[in-house]
Amino acid sequence: MEKPIFNVVSFSGGKDSTAMLLKMIEEKMPIDCILFCDTGLEFPQMYEHIDQVERETGYKIMRVKGEYSFEHWMFEKEISRREDSSILNKYEADVKGYGWAGPKMRWCTKELKDNPRKRFLDCWKPFYEIRYYVGIAADEQYRLERKNNQKKNHVHPLVEWGMTEEDCLKYCYDRGYDWGGLYKYLKRVSCWCCPLQSLEELRMLRKHFPALWEKLREWDRRNFRQFKEKYSVEELEVRFRFEEERTSEGKPIKGKEFMNKLREKFAILREAEASGEAKNK
Ligand code: SF4
Repeated sequence: MEKPIFNVVSFSGGKDSTAMLLKMIEEKMPIDCILFCDTGLEFPQMYEHIDQVERETGYKIMRVKGEYSFEHWMFEKEISRREDSSILNKYEADVKGYGWAGPKMRWCTKELKDNPRKRFLDCWKPFYEIRYYVGIAADEQYRLERKNNQKKNHVHPLVEWGMTEEDCLKYCYDRGYDWGGLYKYLKRVSCWCCPLQSLEELRMLRKHFPALWEKLREWDRRNFRQFKEKYSVEELEVRFRFEEERTSEGKPIKGKEFMNKLREKFAILREAEASGEAKNK
């Protein structure tokens, strides 16, 4: 016997999935569940936005979470590693947690988004055929090419409607959703502490969300992995401060001369860190 369809809207709270949801409601499309995987790492404005959507649409948003917090996975979780693991060779043998995620090891996506989503959907699968609505914009065709987005039961209404990322933002703004101004600073809104963000996004984080930036510095000091391939958070702090100095002097913040001076500053930072560590021993 054919199972009935269960229509699940994948909702991150960002401009694309918000536009998709609002238009689905306007078009009176069937919605059985709006699913938000909460990493605990959204900007406060994003949590307010999600509450606003819930309040104003009258639809309940199902929030699912991972078994443990991001901090627990990053610093505390006992991870069984192979004996020849590069981490065991490079760092202390008893190092705990995953450390910062990287482009090839997005453990947080798996533990805080994919697994909770799967656990939730698996409960419904014996009884329903899941139809999963994903907010990929019409100008993000490259995302559609990913294997994960080619599943038979996935639907991409924004592509069908021809709505680009810009259209989605405007659509939401026109309906009174502005995320407390988040999209004025950030092109993409995801976890505030994501190491995969661009330098520009991190500049904005430091400038407009100083408390979160301080938290990022603290987490980085405790981390066994470097935040970004080329920078620790402390080095980014040095770089951004230096950029501000140079800008106020009317000097360029890129090019060979800038980078050479920046490297000198990093060398000073490393010396200070090394002597600080020596003192603490
Ligand atoms: S956005 Fe970044 S920090 Fe958040 S889950 Fe994805 S990879 Fe991890």
